[in-house]
Amino acid sequence: MAILLSFHIMIGVNTTRSKQTSFFLKRIGLFTLQGLNQLLWPAVCTNCRQSICETDHDLCQDCWDGLLACTGADYCRRCGREASRFAIVDGACPDCQGKAIHFDRIARAGMYSRSLQQLILAFKNGKTEHAHVLDFMANSALLASDFYREVELFVPVPLHWSRRMIRGYNQSHILAQKLNHPTGRVSTDLVRIRRTRLQPAMASPAARARNVAGAFAVRNGHPFASRKICLVDDIKTSGATLNECASVLKQAGAFKVFALVLAVAGQSTG
Ligand SMILES: [Zn+2]
Ligand SMILES: [Zn+2]
Repeated sequence: MAILLSFHIMIGVNTTRSKQTSFFLKRIGLFTLQGLNQLLWPAVCTNCRQSICETDHDLCQDCWDGLLACTGADYCRRCGREASRFAIVDGACPDCQGKAIHFDRIARAGMYSRSLQQLILAFKNGKTEHAHVLDFMANSALLASDFYREVELFVPVPLHWSRRMIRGYNQSHILAQKLNHPTGRVSTDLVRIRRTRLQPAMASPAARARNVAGAFAVRNGHPFASRKICLVDDIKTSGATLNECASVLKQAGAFKVFALVLAVAGQSTG
């Protein structure tokens, strides 16, 4: 009996030792593979291609700093432009005072700074490796907005079908699908019925408004009547597109229309 017991103990010790040995061999193998991987395919920032460490979470320190800087500033909840809270009078900043804005409030992830611009343009051009950064930024902006609890429907700003066919997807629709919300669901019943020209960077706000006038419509059987809706887009420039979409949704009976964008362009961001 004593011999049998000591045999079992010996087997137990040997099993433990062999488990430890195989664990260490596996770890060594993993480190070697990681080292080889780093040597053959060195990690680079997915935004600017600068070399990074494995622990840098896809972006280099400069890009993280750039994103942090463009998201930190306070902004006008009526138009999305950068504005100190002391400059807001009756809910409007000096820039949007007196302007006709059809959406009720806006939330943005940041200003259209170089880092954010690069991420958004890459996302538009089909590079999806940093889409999770944009998803995170959009969700943070939504969560911090004062309309988070009110939203019933998320409506991506639509592309014309011909442009969607060329690109293969609507980046605003993908973004809307990645929003975490307890009750809001995505509706694609707002459609672009006219292909609009790409807006030249220097186009005036009036020219931009003319370009998108009558470009949107709602589908028959749409769910927008009496609902609180959040439009979703990647970039707000003059706001003409969001304004036109909000106007069409309100004509369709929407109770409130909010807007969520990744970036607001048109301000000096350094
Ligand atoms: Zn970078
Ligand atoms: Zn404003």
